[in-house]
Amino acid sequence: MKITRNLLATISHPIIPLKDRRLNFGAKWDYTPSLEDAKPYSIAPRHELFINGKFTAPASGHYFPSINPATEQPLTEIAAANAADVDRAVKSARRAYDRVWGKLPARERGKYLYRIARLIQEKARELAVLETVDGGKPIKESRDIDLPLVAAHFFYYAGWADKLKYAFPGKTPRPLGVAGQIIPWNFPLLMAAWKIAPALACGNTVVLKPAETTSITALRLAQIFQEAGLPDGVVNIVTGAGVTGAALVQHPDINKIAFTGSTEVGKLIAKAVAGSGKKLTLELGGKAANIIFEDAPLDQAIEGIIAGIYFNQGHVCCAGSRLLVQEGIYPQVVKKLRDRIQTLRVGNPLDKNTDIGAINSAAQLAKIRELVQSGLAEGAALQQTQCTLPAKGYWYPPTFLTGVTHAHRVAQEEIFGPVLSVMTFRTPEEALERANNTPYGLSAGIWTDKGSKIFKMAAKLQAGVIWANCYNKFDPTSPFGGYQESGFGREGGLHGLAAYCRLD
Ligand code: ADP
Repeated sequence: MKITRNLLATISHPIIPLKDRRLNFGAKWDYTPSLEDAKPYSIAPRHELFINGKFTAPASGHYFPSINPATEQPLTEIAAANAADVDRAVKSARRAYDRVWGKLPARERGKYLYRIARLIQEKARELAVLETVDGGKPIKESRDIDLPLVAAHFFYYAGWADKLKYAFPGKTPRPLGVAGQIIPWNFPLLMAAWKIAPALACGNTVVLKPAETTSITALRLAQIFQEAGLPDGVVNIVTGAGVTGAALVQHPDINKIAFTGSTEVGKLIAKAVAGSGKKLTLELGGKAANIIFEDAPLDQAIEGIIAGIYFNQGHVCCAGSRLLVQEGIYPQVVKKLRDRIQTLRVGNPLDKNTDIGAINSAAQLAKIRELVQSGLAEGAALQQTQCTLPAKGYWYPPTFLTGVTHAHRVAQEEIFGPVLSVMTFRTPEEALERANNTPYGLSAGIWTDKGSKIFKMAAKLQAGVIWANCYNKFDPTSPFGGYQESGFGREGGLHGLAAYCRLD
């Protein structure tokens, strides 16, 4: 791929001028900016589709811009795949399945996955920088959380490739065929890894559609597939917006659709797939309750609450966006939270000191603002980090709302931003009732000193993932997925393998 545009042209300046930094980050302390060295990495001015092992122009001839959300500067243009391109990609995946991948001994599939995992580790720094520049998340998250997890998923599923019959004793696991996978923008590479690694380990081939605002790292991953010598057509990547995703869902030669994204689009996909014989897994929205009891270790809990809601600017479907505090400790918790958010640094995502990066897009920022306004109109009170936000780019300061009731929109709708709604409860039963009182059921958190309380609560919480005395911890061996409007099917662990096998 021809590399011409230097990243530094768009990102070398600190977003917040040095003289303003003390103002920006509260009165506690300040750090000298420590920018990740982006010089060695560059982004091609144009990104094509990845079909049959090659980068290829879209039939439509159309491209759309991808911008850096921290600066609003264009980074590159991305090919918009239409139905004809999707058809080419599916045909290429089918050919690769019939002729190569479906016939390959399982241990050979494992070797490719190990090779991909090692290449991801080798290029982790570059991938982290690209992820941060394209998506707006702080470099310390993309570098220390996303990329290690991406490699870990490929390693984990590489290990399973030749052991499937041990994963499902008494069964003869067989691949499904061609998997269509549609992913969102909050964890672009990690979502690609969650979906591609188990699919390939089980012997399927893939057509992946990244989100339109964050396609760059998926296409860099395609280069890694080339370097790893992955046979042509085993993974194909079609970029574009919702229409491209819809064309993939509707393609008659797809055996399985795996989707992560909004509940609204998930419902459309479920309707489109109904009766088609395609297997489906959906990982959708969430409105998780983080429940903090009076006997919880408070300082530890505050850190967990912060990690639960402000990690990745709250762009996390399992974000702990509702805080349920037991009444007796409510004043202390609010005070500690108010103090703690003043120390969070909002700014250049490439600065290693940054805690809160940029909101992924103008549309997402507008949605966050609208929902917070609705909370204020309904009577909630606003608490925010006192900082001057950069003039350019999409920013929202860490925020929490007190005086929220369960009927408020901010307590019911997914915000997908750094906004926490704080409510109270008196008894464990009340906490359970309130926590379960949403259409979602993806995740929850419990903070208490008592192990028995954890087990009792966890058994009754309607959520697929429950963290106890921690939050937002991920591991490739743990299944992840939801109840109700948060979707169905699991990714990760053995459950994630089962989603890509025929076990009859
Ligand atoms: P979010 O609100 O997180 O952006 P979306 O559900 O809108 O989530 O998008 C998630 C992914 O689904 C993106 O890759 C997007 O392009 C894709 N998508 C959007 N609309 C459709 C659709 N109708 N059919 C299939 N995929 C779609």
